[in-house]
Amino acid sequence: MSPTQTPVPPTVAIDPSVDRWTRTDLDLDFILTQLRGTFDGKLEQLMSLPSGDPACAGHAAWLDSINAALQRIHDGTYGTCDVCDGPISAARLEVVPTTTRCVGCNAT
Ligand SMILES: [Zn+2]
Repeated sequence: MSPTQTPVPPTVAIDPSVDRWTRTDLDLDFILTQLRGTFDGKLEQLMSLPSGDPACAGHAAWLDSINAALQRIHDGTYGTCDVCDGPISAARLEVVPTTTRCVGCNAT
């Protein structure tokens, strides 16, 4: 594998000090830890694959979804369902921190 073929990981900045957090029922530290752990794992898997490996796309998609979750945390929209604008339950977010849909909308 040539170094020039190595996928470039997206830049991620986790800053728990942002004061735009609006959901007081969520354990932000826990969720950020989950996101960071998943990100590190997926990045390690991605970087261990040869360029062009079909599994790269799946790992890259995970990294994108984690970046999107971090952006929603930064923007203060994290935990709001994309479909119905209702709150996503804290229990669901702790299990699936990258989700953008509440349980009801995800089932439809
Ligand atoms: Zn919903």
